[in-house]
Amino acid sequence: MFYKSTRNSNVNVSSAQAIAQGISEDGGLFVPSEIPALTLDEIRQMGDLSYADRALFVFSKYLTDFSGAEIRYCVDGAYNTKNFDSENIAELAHLFDGTYMLELWHGPTCAFKDMALQILPYLLTTSIKKIGTDKKVVILVATSGDTGKAALEGFKDVEGTSIIVFYPEDGVSAMQKKQMTTQEGSNVGVCAIKGNFDDAQNGVKAIFTDAATGKELADNGMMFSSANSINWGRLAPQIIYYVSTYAQLVKEQQIDVGEPINIVVPTGNFGNILAGYYAKKMGVPVNKLICASNANNVLTDFINTGIYDRNRQFHTTISPSMDILISSNLERLLYLLNGQNDAQIREWFGALAKDGRYEVSDEVKKALREEFCAGFCDDEQTKATIKEIYDKYSYTCDTHTAVAVKVYEDYKKATGDDTVTVIASTASPYKFSGSVLSAIGADAGEDEFDKVDKLAEISKLPVPESLAGLKNKAVRFDKTIDKADMKKFIFESLGI
Ligand SMILES: *Cc1c(COP(=O)(O)O)cnc(C)c1O
Repeated sequence: MFYKSTRNSNVNVSSAQAIAQGISEDGGLFVPSEIPALTLDEIRQMGDLSYADRALFVFSKYLTDFSGAEIRYCVDGAYNTKNFDSENIAELAHLFDGTYMLELWHGPTCAFKDMALQILPYLLTTSIKKIGTDKKVVILVATSGDTGKAALEGFKDVEGTSIIVFYPEDGVSAMQKKQMTTQEGSNVGVCAIKGNFDDAQNGVKAIFTDAATGKELADNGMMFSSANSINWGRLAPQIIYYVSTYAQLVKEQQIDVGEPINIVVPTGNFGNILAGYYAKKMGVPVNKLICASNANNVLTDFINTGIYDRNRQFHTTISPSMDILISSNLERLLYLLNGQNDAQIREWFGALAKDGRYEVSDEVKKALREEFCAGFCDDEQTKATIKEIYDKYSYTCDTHTAVAVKVYEDYKKATGDDTVTVIASTASPYKFSGSVLSAIGADAGEDEFDKVDKLAEISKLPVPESLAGLKNKAVRFDKTIDKADMKKFIFESLGI
């Protein structure tokens, strides 16, 4: 197994190199040269393992240059009850007949990003050792709210690393902002930018792939890497929970081994749902992957028409982690669906950069429709869904998860498909207390922590300690800059 670039199939690097580097020099994303297979028997047997052991098994198929002991060190460091408030790491809640909520937010920052970002520092520091560099790794992150905090928690005070996070000034929830601006650790930097998530992500990508900047950094004994889902080390851990969930459903006799399931994912950068696609291609029986978007419905249109067009209004919604018009990981999917044709990827993504638009071939359109379904909903529908789920099932879900529930309800109505379905629940409702309370029709005034208390009262969910503890934390990072000044901020933070 080796890793290629979506923009140059001749690139041939180890998984350690791909993870350490984050993104290929040509601007492409690293993908494994083949998708390893799991047999149904292997998947069934995983049901008897702990989450860390399930992870070990799946990682061993992708990180073929890692020793068993190295993978063991990584999974044990990440997937334990010191970091997660559930022994199962991810919880599966039965919502209603044949429909399950895969709760991916039991980690330290209460969003699904922890599933990958708790292990990424272990994978990355191990990779750095393996490739024999003595450079300090500078992790650059663009965040729509959740990745930033999860990456900061994962990398804070990790030796040999620094981490710098950029978030859109007006594009994150009050709790998300509080989580990031109060971040502790001696190797961390956080900064707001004037612009939206796409501006932050484009800024980071440009800095990453600028050769002169890379050289300046190297001259100072440092190198960049990424904790965004452009890094394979972010994506691989996300495949695991889909395999694990299937094994769990079989173990609990909710499905027979071999029986297909649907997977519904509230989507932004297309990382989480792409991990579901990889799980399917590895052998997990999946019928449809259902891609749910908010009012920023560029992916809904793309999956339905084959035309990707980012030339549209950007909406700031109550599901901010999905307020994205350029979904990076689509590049990996298109590379796979189009016979690993790197020239075609260069053409399409060149057009995206230049004109904001590309149209895929008829074969790719067909493949897209075979594997995926897509839908979207607006803020009003999101809120109505939170209320409906709360009233009907006494289950409180966050705004992102509600988008997925609504799109799934629409899908079910339109198709009559009654396949067992797993909905990825991507954040704790406490991260978006204000929106969730207003959806349910409760009021708690303006103070964020009054809202948390109120939500605890009506949801009966325990308040995560990490969020409750923010109340008395001092703000350490309050800077807002123009997006043109990102590089300057980085170099200043690093003392260059
Ligand atoms: C990041 C995030 C998403 C979107 O996930 P992608 O992998 O970017 O598609 C959805 N919900 C929440 C809560 C998130 O933090």
